[in-house]
Amino acid sequence: MFRPPCEASSLIVQVTLGCPHNRCVFCGMYKMKKYRVRDPEEVKADLRRARLIYRHVESIFLADGNTIAMNSEKLADIISYARDLFPEAERVSSYGGARFLKGKPVEALRRVREAGLDIIYFGLESGDDEILGRMDKGVDSEGMIEAARRVKEAGIDLSVYILLGLGGEDLWRQHAENTARVLNAMQPQFIRPRTLALLPGIPLYEEAREGRFREASGETIMRELQVMLSSLEIADAWFLTDHISNYVPVYGHLPEDQATMLATVEMALGDPGEYLAPRHLTHL
Ligand code: SF4
Repeated sequence: MFRPPCEASSLIVQVTLGCPHNRCVFCGMYKMKKYRVRDPEEVKADLRRARLIYRHVESIFLADGNTIAMNSEKLADIISYARDLFPEAERVSSYGGARFLKGKPVEALRRVREAGLDIIYFGLESGDDEILGRMDKGVDSEGMIEAARRVKEAGIDLSVYILLGLGGEDLWRQHAENTARVLNAMQPQFIRPRTLALLPGIPLYEEAREGRFREASGETIMRELQVMLSSLEIADAWFLTDHISNYVPVYGHLPEDQATMLATVEMALGDPGEYLAPRHLTHL
């Protein structure tokens, strides 16, 4: 079971299992699960049981990895049911990937929004088409931008994950520049960098062991973050490195905190021995 760190105190409801894509070579989250949508009646029974247990539920997260891919009417029905049972919940959220979102009519997403979905956590990872193709993300940068447009048009907040280090030592600059380009086109409400963690069992780990992928150093990752941050032209978004995989904490609101956040990155670059923790300490 995975959930965003900011959903740590949420009621987590298992609406689907696994990820219907499950091919990204840097991701090992659901490799042991076969994707399936749970029977909505079972999910509603879980919700009723949770209501008996918890007096106050502050927010609800709909697991697993790509719940938004399921039929929108069925999802809206589950969300409405949850909202009726937990009127005190301030937020309902789920993960949602571009491969599935870009094919959804805005009307279907609006229906889910009206039922009570507030935010989608969306894995952009990179805005660079060469990297997206290599990582088998299943969608290119144009598809990413189109999916984000639909989410925002439906009135759902967009929280975008980017994966530092995904270009390795060889493609870091194009990763940084093109990710900033796509984020500028998307104008999400949240940007959340994570750093690539190569762990056994992940296909990219094997590629690195065989010398077909050169893992980026901490210094390269900080340069990537520097180029990315300085290229962002975002009107109104939170930038949050709220994950243990990251080297340094960089938090702020764009655009007014951009210079302060850049200064933090530059401070780390100025003294890598002090600020860039050994890689194994930033792995989960
Ligand atoms: S779409 Fe997301 S959850 Fe699914 S394999 Fe790719 S990174 Fe993992």
